[in-house]
Amino acid sequence: MNENATILLIEDEAQIRRFVRQALEDEGHSVLECATLAHSMDKVHESKPQLTILDLGLPDGDGISFIRELRTCSAMPVLVLSARSAEGEKIRALDAGADDYLTKPFATGELLARVRALLRRNKTEGSAAETSYQFGEVEVDLLRRQVTRQGNLVHLTPIEYRLLCAMLSNPGKVLTTRQLLRVVWGNAHSESNHYLRIYVSHLRQKLEHDATQPKHFLTETGVGYRFQI
Ligand code: CA
Repeated sequence: MNENATILLIEDEAQIRRFVRQALEDEGHSVLECATLAHSMDKVHESKPQLTILDLGLPDGDGISFIRELRTCSAMPVLVLSARSAEGEKIRALDAGADDYLTKPFATGELLARVRALLRRNKTEGSAAETSYQFGEVEVDLLRRQVTRQGNLVHLTPIEYRLLCAMLSNPGKVLTTRQLLRVVWGNAHSESNHYLRIYVSHLRQKLEHDATQPKHFLTETGVGYRFQI
């Protein structure tokens, strides 16, 4: 279980604020509310929240400008909550530094699950860097660069291993295609989406229990991928 967190909620619709606040407080979190962007950065500095839930369409500006400003000084997880469902909008927010994206209307259960995933990740990053990971039937030993499945050594190519590490180090976070291509191949291949699809499918075949029903290497349609422990 996560410890209780302080969560900054930036949302101009009072009804959604009330609803989200209630759900988060029921989980034991404290909630700071902002209806506009105006004082939200002050709240980040004053109250040091562990997570921000951010609407994009705000009366005094675009939430994406908040994400850009935040990322100059903080790695705090940001969950975007928006009525904008276009894939281009999701990609814009994620590329600006958001960690996850939920389209309105959304279910409380899903919101809380994503909040838990982001807080878990944040806690991991706050402690000493992980040297091993375990998910499903798989263990990854970063020090020995060794991957085993049910105790048997799995051979990964260097590209597959880099992709695996990029995804492992961001559990619960949606990574855009462009972000993954940049990390794994560098900028030169940043338009080659199909490379990524091929290598993700290799990882699924080698590491998922059933590659046709992936539980860990998940597709975010039109946006990118998410690794789930
Ligand atoms: Ca709004």
